Amino acid sequence: MAGGNAIRGTRVGAGPMGEAERGEAAPRNRMSYWCSQGHETQVAFATDAEVPELWDCPRCGLPAGQDQQAPPPAPRTEPYKTHLAYVRERRSDADGDALLEEALAKLRARRGA
Ligand SMILES: [Zn+2]
Repeated sequence: MAGGNAIRGTRVGAGPMGEAERGEAAPRNRMSYWCSQGHETQVAFATDAEVPELWDCPRCGLPAGQDQQAPPPAPRTEPYKTHLAYVRERRSDADGDALLEEALAKLRARRGA
């Protein structure tokens, strides 16, 4: 009985969205992207997913390519702060609320049981 409770507690704490378990189940291609400032970004794609040629560097917002020796040039017309602000806003509005709500729901369910 004690063992069952311990297992359930571990699973809830490890991944409220269940993403970790899905990530291990699906095979992944791990790709590296480099931006012109030398940041390396590793991105995991499902093997059946289309791997994009370019990836936005999460650190500076510049486009990053798969060739470390020849990263894509930084666009001068697009300020990267706008993109970063957009990503942060979207994450806090959508994912943040969903994460919080699900965590609270599970807390209530565990207390009620
Ligand atoms: Zn960068």
